Amino acid sequence: MIRQHKCIALFSGGLDSILAVKHMERLGYQVKAVFFETPFFEAESALQAAKANEIDLQVIDVLPQYLQVLENPRYGYGKNMNPCVDCHGFMFRMAAELLTETGADFLISGEVLGQRPMSQRKDAMNAVAKLSGVKDLLVRPLCQQFLADTLPIREGWVDKAEMLDIQGRGRQRQLDMAREFGVTEFQNPAGGCKLTDIKYSRKLKDLLLHKQLNDDTIKYLKYGRHFRLNEHTKLIVGRDKAENEHLSLLTTDEIVVKTVDFHGPLGIICKTGTVTETELKTAAGIVLRYNNNVDNEAEVAWGENFSLNNIIKVEKYTPAEVQELMIK
Ligand code: SF4
Repeated sequence: MIRQHKCIALFSGGLDSILAVKHMERLGYQVKAVFFETPFFEAESALQAAKANEIDLQVIDVLPQYLQVLENPRYGYGKNMNPCVDCHGFMFRMAAELLTETGADFLISGEVLGQRPMSQRKDAMNAVAKLSGVKDLLVRPLCQQFLADTLPIREGWVDKAEMLDIQGRGRQRQLDMAREFGVTEFQNPAGGCKLTDIKYSRKLKDLLLHKQLNDDTIKYLKYGRHFRLNEHTKLIVGRDKAENEHLSLLTTDEIVVKTVDFHGPLGIICKTGTVTETELKTAAGIVLRYNNNVDNEAEVAWGENFSLNNIIKVEKYTPAEVQELMIK
């Protein structure tokens, strides 16, 4: 039976979000799946899962809007820098903005009551709904039996009896459904979110504390060792050849630091404004520390846009000096 009302699905690529889409499609609803992308959670795996399961997925970049959530989440962070409750609320709010242009009537997601400690408790789910500003338009097909009726149910667009009653951390029912729908490829829950990673979160927190959170600084977070030189300046040093290559592709007008006569890591100085001599010497000393070909002292070239026309001679920093400045 073709249903008259359409919905937008928040899609993560995880099994539950795939099952929510499949369940609604089987009931005859037209479902539009969306993935809101930022550098913290990239679309690649979700696209892969969507393709494998024949789900048409739209990816939308939301970084500028998401930064506001990340900087000041009303419900705080999880174990690391993951503001899961606010993040879900934000996603629903973004999805709601698509309702008119897509001709959809309500929103769905694959949340399961009590599955994850923070974001899927009943009070947290209520908070998500409240934050989204579209509380009354949300349906959670996998556990709606336990939840208060929202507009789509009260209006009869969705029959509550057809919604499911999955709850808790067990996965058996989802695995049975996966078998039934032929779903074999999906992403691990939260596996793709860097905000749940402790090391990534520390580097992110440092940017936040120093009010340097923007596109230019975020792009470096997944590469290299990071050092805080002072309030305004940080240094990133590549850990291996692959990272040096990634870093060199990312740089625009940052100062690059590199040993002159020996192969070794690349250093990128991130700072708005002119870099001081002290900062350069510190950056060069750290870069030398990670160059095994240098004994103690060496010449280091530096400049913008890989025009490494300036040379300074510095001593290698000691392990203790480097540790003191490392963001860890
Ligand atoms: S794990 Fe990451 S993407 Fe998922 S809700 Fe939490 S912060 Fe958002």
